[in-house]
Amino acid sequence: MKCERCGALLEENQANTFQGKVLCEDCCFDLMNPPKVCDPLAVASTLSIRKQLGQSGTDGLTDLQKQIYSTVVERSKVSRDELQALLKLTPQELEQQFALLRHCELLRAFKEGTTVYLAKY
Ligand SMILES: [Zn+2]
Repeated sequence: MKCERCGALLEENQANTFQGKVLCEDCCFDLMNPPKVCDPLAVASTLSIRKQLGQSGTDGLTDLQKQIYSTVVERSKVSRDELQALLKLTPQELEQQFALLRHCELLRAFKEGTTVYLAKY
């Protein structure tokens, strides 16, 4: 048995089935997780799309994204947990919105100790 994505040989008990495909554990994990936040290609394509549309700053963002952006800018930096609580978002929701804001080079994340903060790019 082989992983349909990377071709790794699998024992019967190592095979995972995801969306009808037989996959190794790593590939299964990759597919179940959203794209990485720091993805230079995604950043480049998001930026070029925004350029084509003549968008800059917070143009073209959803209300929620603008809300996240303005909350972070107002406070100059805010921990991820605090932002989640303030805007009543789930970690997944915040992660998704943040990925886009990161791609647009509006916000960045950094770590201090064990706390993740968001700040203006
Ligand atoms: Zn694989």
